[in-house]
Amino acid sequence: MNEPAGAVPIVIIGCGFGGIAMAIALKKAGERDFVILERAADVGGVWRDNSYPGAACDVVSRIYSFSHDQDYEWSTAFAPRLEIVTYIHRVVANHDLRKHVRFNTEVAAATFDEATALWRVETKNGERIETPVLISAVGLFNRIKIPDFPGRDTFEGAQFHSACWNHDVALDGKIVAVIGNGASAVQFVPKIAPRVKRLYLFQRTPQYVLPKSIFPGTGKWDAWLQRHRGLRGLARLKIYLAFERFVFRRKWRPHLRLRGEAGFRKMLEAKIADPVLRAKLTPDFPIGCKRQLVSNEWFDTLIRPNVEIIDTPIDSVTTTGLRTRDGKERAVDAIIYGTGFTPTDYLQPMRVTGLGGKGLNEAWREGAEAYLGIAVTGFPNFFMLYGPNTNAITSIIYMLECQARYIADCIRALRTRNAGYMNVRAEIQSRFIAEVQKRLSGTVQAMSICVTYFKQANGRITTNWPGYAFEYRWRTRGMRASDYEFVAKATPNLAPPAAGA
Ligand SMILES: Cc1cc2nc3c(=O)[nH]c(=O)nc-3n(C[C@H](O)[C@H](O)[C@H](O)COP(=O)(O)OP(=O)(O)OC[C@H]3O[C@@H](n4cnc5c(N)ncnc54)[C@H](O)[C@@H]3O)c2cc1C
Repeated sequence: MNEPAGAVPIVIIGCGFGGIAMAIALKKAGERDFVILERAADVGGVWRDNSYPGAACDVVSRIYSFSHDQDYEWSTAFAPRLEIVTYIHRVVANHDLRKHVRFNTEVAAATFDEATALWRVETKNGERIETPVLISAVGLFNRIKIPDFPGRDTFEGAQFHSACWNHDVALDGKIVAVIGNGASAVQFVPKIAPRVKRLYLFQRTPQYVLPKSIFPGTGKWDAWLQRHRGLRGLARLKIYLAFERFVFRRKWRPHLRLRGEAGFRKMLEAKIADPVLRAKLTPDFPIGCKRQLVSNEWFDTLIRPNVEIIDTPIDSVTTTGLRTRDGKERAVDAIIYGTGFTPTDYLQPMRVTGLGGKGLNEAWREGAEAYLGIAVTGFPNFFMLYGPNTNAITSIIYMLECQARYIADCIRALRTRNAGYMNVRAEIQSRFIAEVQKRLSGTVQAMSICVTYFKQANGRITTNWPGYAFEYRWRTRGMRASDYEFVAKATPNLAPPAAGA
């Protein structure tokens, strides 16, 4: 192991929307000396990586963008991935952030040293960096999940996950198996189906896939507001409030869910004439249980003559294709895994060790938890963006901005109080988590019938925020000193703010 490469006042891990939000909040707070360690060779996070055909946001771009960087003309309501990447590059340039980023630098471990109040960060390349403040912005959807089907390694054709799309594989005229029908598959299947000879779609459960027009920000008025530069703030507010209305209706008018399910079945009846196929595509769980999917093309694609839906579970992968549990084997040229990610494995595979040598893995044995999704007791001066229970029904960028502001406020408190470190009080975290879990237990996602990636194997929901976005904004409006224990240090690592700052 090399010697420490030196101390940096603030280290951010990851340069997706979260790391960028954090860097901008730091600059606004007058912080100039920070680094962003990014494992890949460019900025962008999930939008850099998910290059599959049809990749686009499914929250309208006017709100799926930074509040402070609205001077951007989106070509369409749900911007395609390349446009989002261009936007991210423009924001990074506008705020002159590239000089802060160290690319190809993956953090492997971080250990807090109580004596010096410093985090010792180890990278995969063997570099060591010391920092008083460590901020994780590693995201929720960056570890892919591929089911461990027997024989997977023996397949002689091409196989890849949708988040690592292999653009060298020519799919035209080929027989292709797609495994999974989640948010990514709903986007790429309609794009590749017209090009392939045959497409087998292996689904575990059908999904509620709804037309774009019912999502906030897609109406005539929205389009009008978004066309006018001076009205963009209003356009965003309208979309924001429409999302809040979803949350209100979920809580206070749950019977509307039944109306939504009935509407979905009616739409299926109109689109799918074949009753056998329709039955295969009708979910047997409540709407709202899984992530809401959006597409105008999904069901039209599924009735194409070259598309077949298979709901018999997969038994194994053979050298030439896939065998299902009924013994049937289908030869294919390529297998595409649209099998998603492992969002409940927060921060994995990083090893984070806090006070008393306690690892996050140990602290999170029952499931990941953090005060406001940001701070964990026993892990001082360690903060997270998109941490546990912050996945809300709104644009995630809004949530990231709330977290970034709050963390910048914590750093300000460390400086003004001349503190060595701040540690969220255990009872504050426990009270917060008990409240969040109680509120989540009343949601549709908590129902045992509801199998979703939001949940851990033990049934605990560790990803979702139970309330309104404005409530989260309110609760993160500033750090409350009484929530934290501030520990003094003779010579604090962070200098007090300069006079007048
Ligand atoms: C295909 C797809 C579509 C989505 N669409 C929407 C949408 O429409 N609306 C919405 O609100 N949300 C959407 N999301 C959720 C999305 O994850 C967030 O909106 C947002 O991009 C999160 O940004 P982030 O920076 O927190 O995480 P990420 O974008 O995942 O960025 C994390 C960064 O950290 C880096 N990193 C990870 N581990 C390490 C490490 N150990 N060391 C160094 N660097 C590391 C990664 O390389 C990456 O660059 C989507 C997600 C996916 C996968």
